[in-house]
Amino acid sequence: MENIVIVGASLAGMQAAQTLRRSDYEGALVVIGDEPHYPYDRPPLSKQYLAGEWDDEKLRLRAAADPAELGIDWRLNTAATSLDLSASVVGLDDGSEVSFDGLIIATGASPRSLPGVELDGVHVLRTLDDAKNLRHHFDAKPNRVCVIGAGFIGAEVAATARERDLDVTLIEGASAPMARVLDTAAGMAIADLHRTHGVDVRLGTGVSSIGEGVVALSDGTVVEADAVVVGIGVQPATDWLEGSGLELDNGVVCDATCLAAPGVAAAGDVARWPNQRFGGALTRVEQWDNAVDQGAYVAKRLLADPDDQPAPFAPVPWFWSDQYDRKIQLAGVPTEQADVVHGTIKEQRFVQLYLDDGEFVGALAWNRPRQAIMARQLLEKGATIDEARAELGE
Ligand SMILES: Cc1cc2nc3c(=O)[nH]c(=O)nc-3n(C[C@H](O)[C@H](O)[C@H](O)COP(=O)(O)OP(=O)(O)OC[C@H]3O[C@@H](n4cnc5c(N)ncnc54)[C@H](O)[C@@H]3O)c2cc1C
Repeated sequence: MENIVIVGASLAGMQAAQTLRRSDYEGALVVIGDEPHYPYDRPPLSKQYLAGEWDDEKLRLRAAADPAELGIDWRLNTAATSLDLSASVVGLDDGSEVSFDGLIIATGASPRSLPGVELDGVHVLRTLDDAKNLRHHFDAKPNRVCVIGAGFIGAEVAATARERDLDVTLIEGASAPMARVLDTAAGMAIADLHRTHGVDVRLGTGVSSIGEGVVALSDGTVVEADAVVVGIGVQPATDWLEGSGLELDNGVVCDATCLAAPGVAAAGDVARWPNQRFGGALTRVEQWDNAVDQGAYVAKRLLADPDDQPAPFAPVPWFWSDQYDRKIQLAGVPTEQADVVHGTIKEQRFVQLYLDDGEFVGALAWNRPRQAIMARQLLEKGATIDEARAELGE
């Protein structure tokens, strides 16, 4: 391969670029990104950056610390608008085209919206520019902040806002926070954590409308707010691929080796592939570690000899969230069958194991980082639930 194009100048894309160069790929490397910034890290946006502790420079991804280092032809502030598979060409919003013999799609995801997000004082949080606006607003000391959605981003924004001494109401339509990434009991522990810190947590309540300074809820109540943050999840950024012939279904659908078509791979939040470690169900993961691992994997995948059958991409998912002084780490997948083997949920310092049909499929650790890493290693080697209990139990 002599001409690789990466669309999406962020975590998965940069990891792919770095891996290509480390794998002695010496051909052309074009990176197309619609943001004006060199690639930066997103997790601190809802944590240290929003808290006012970090500046922009500290966010820069290490792989992009010296933009000249990887020999990249950068096309920043430029969106890909189309893909012609038969001609192997990506169309750009400045009217130009870039041809490729290998393509990595790493366009991530963008926030879901609600009517009202265009109003002054209403925010979403995905990009550095979003975070700048929100931080600026927090600097102006709004009295009341309303966070809509208690997924991990909403929950982290609520925690950071409380730590900045703002009054916070956290609204969640589901019966527990972080319902997509945790079991219900652990989700309720998140609700308790926020309530202990003085957040007004409203569960099982939708939003009927957002107006200037007010959020009307489906239970008929109204929350007055000077700043509103909408954190109701994301959707994979695949609009530019419509009509390309790639299968798009809640992401770019790939095979078990992350190929969406010959010479075309996808990685990070935008990719959906069968993770054979968990029965081969199509999976799309919105997590930092996955973007890193999949970015590296697809780089090697594109460089692999076409006659080789590479091992599938079958990682153990890994996720963390920082809220107040709690580090919440999840290895594998959560289920409602959870078994606390270390500490207690009440003291908010614990390890619990997740089971599926008697099999050990995941572990959640709160302020237990050593056990979290051990759990990940146990899952990687396919440990049984008894082995996991013996290693991680008290
Ligand atoms: C505020 C926040 C906090 C987070 N905290 C955590 C955490 O604590 N733990 C954790 O595990 N994960 C966390 N994440 C998730 C993690 O950051 C993502 O999983 C990761 O950024 C995904 O990387 P990516 O490269 O796949 O996509 P992205 O980082 O979304 O990057 C995709 C890039 O492609 C660009 N793009 C999109 N469409 C086009 C186009 N048509 N043309 C050109 N460019 C395009 C986008 O603008 C973006 O720059 C957090 C995310 C956010 C937003």
